[in-house]
Amino acid sequence: MGSSGAFHSNGVSMILKVARLGHPVIRTPARPVPVEEIATHDFQKVLDDMVETMHEYLGVGLAGPQVHLSLQVAVLEVQGHPRYPDMPSVPLTYLINPKVTVLEDATVEEWEGCLSIPEMRGLVPRFSKVRVQALGRNAEPLDFVAADFHARVIQHETDHLNGEVYLDRMRDMRTLAHLAEWQRYVLPALERKG
Ligand SMILES: [Zn+2]
Repeated sequence: MGSSGAFHSNGVSMILKVARLGHPVIRTPARPVPVEEIATHDFQKVLDDMVETMHEYLGVGLAGPQVHLSLQVAVLEVQGHPRYPDMPSVPLTYLINPKVTVLEDATVEEWEGCLSIPEMRGLVPRFSKVRVQALGRNAEPLDFVAADFHARVIQHETDHLNGEVYLDRMRDMRTLAHLAEWQRYVLPALERKG
């Protein structure tokens, strides 16, 4: 325990290998993390490694199954992100055993990508407001409301914990594009719209 009383791992964090679509772990519902495991060195190290991996690959979120860990844990952070410079920032958040409740039935469509489906973008509807109940890094209970882009990232990551990916949510698969082509043909039109 540090002087702050917070759990931590002491270790040097590692970049984990990312599982891609087609690996069975991506399609397997993850098991809950036993609460007594959260404080363990091994689990705290997993959290550090997930953050390191998310930063390395410029993700805004990363879920356990994406790093071959079939555990209900996700990390997210949006701060001056090169891919989403205009997006409101989301502080580094650890979500353990999250439960998401939809607060507004209205959905908004926006472009998403996924580290497990590299170099692709697709238009995905998401609920605009959700309530999130989870445990944090120190096993503290979290209960908050997320809206808009924050709500989108949470829905994307918690889908991973249920063995689902953004492709499953798309209404129109014809919007699916390779990143280079998306940047060439779709992005300029988005930028013109402002
Ligand atoms: Zn993803």
